[in-house]
Amino acid sequence: MASVPVFSAAARRLEGKVALITGGASGIGEYAAKIFTQNGAKVMIADIQDDLGQSVCKNLGPSVASYIHCNVTNEAHVQNAVDSTMAQYGKLDIMFNNAGIGCYPKPNILDNTQSDFEEVIKVNLVGPFLGTKHAARVMIPAKQVYFQTGSIITTASTCATIAGVAPHAYTTSKHGVLGLMRNTAVELGKHGIRVNCVSPHVVATYMTKTFFDLDDEDFANIYSNLKGAMCKKEDVASAALFLASDESKFISGHNLIVDGGFTIVNPAFSMFEKL
Ligand code: NAD
Repeated sequence: MASVPVFSAAARRLEGKVALITGGASGIGEYAAKIFTQNGAKVMIADIQDDLGQSVCKNLGPSVASYIHCNVTNEAHVQNAVDSTMAQYGKLDIMFNNAGIGCYPKPNILDNTQSDFEEVIKVNLVGPFLGTKHAARVMIPAKQVYFQTGSIITTASTCATIAGVAPHAYTTSKHGVLGLMRNTAVELGKHGIRVNCVSPHVVATYMTKTFFDLDDEDFANIYSNLKGAMCKKEDVASAALFLASDESKFISGHNLIVDGGFTIVNPAFSMFEKL
């Protein structure tokens, strides 16, 4: 009996689309590159971990994935990543501003240095600003010439809407990308370009293991309102896939929180359990 492909043509939700994914060499971005290509997209991975990024592309297949060195804090790099995507694939449908860093928790603001703070803001907030700007630069004329619309997605965090669960710089950077997303969604709507965020809860990746010093037991014990469930890379990447696809064609200015209900729970409500 002939084998049935896991992703049939009908199920390929990004068929014919081209995506640029920053931070695609590892973690959530790497998983997004995997499912974007499985769903028919061509993907350009932009990262600073060149060996890792190239190896991810090799595994995905050179016909569907390419790598470019890009430090998202450097405007010339971001401009070059967008232009290289256009040169290689002829268009840019999806910009996924996903690269980000954490920072070592220093709960007391007096211990936080200006340089530590600025480093996080540069990667997590200036990076998405540059990505959104240069994606818009090529998406706006594409709409006028080819009637293509674009989708710009930035990885924010549950820390974009609540406070006290991550360091000051990280929380500030993620609140900032929500403002950037909303403002640019307003501006770019007239060009048919959608701008959204995906906001993960805690996922086991290099970033959380290193900066937030979490081990496997910590991840298993992370609170979610969905009993026994953990946020995984595929949960976040699937949300990004939805925002990238035409299934979300009327969704813009939205923050898609992937947290099992974590941010809506007020612990004061636990009193009702006793009633
Ligand atoms: P990760 O460390 O596995 O991946 C981050 C990627 O970004 C790496 O490949 C890294 O090389 C790249 N990167 C870092 N600085 C860069 C720069 N200056 N230029 C280009 N690339 C750079 O971590 P992850 O958890 O997959 O993080 C992805 C995104 O998800 C980040 O924006 C992060 O803030 C966000 N996020 C993660 C979690 C979590 O729990 N893992 C939760 C909420 C939000």
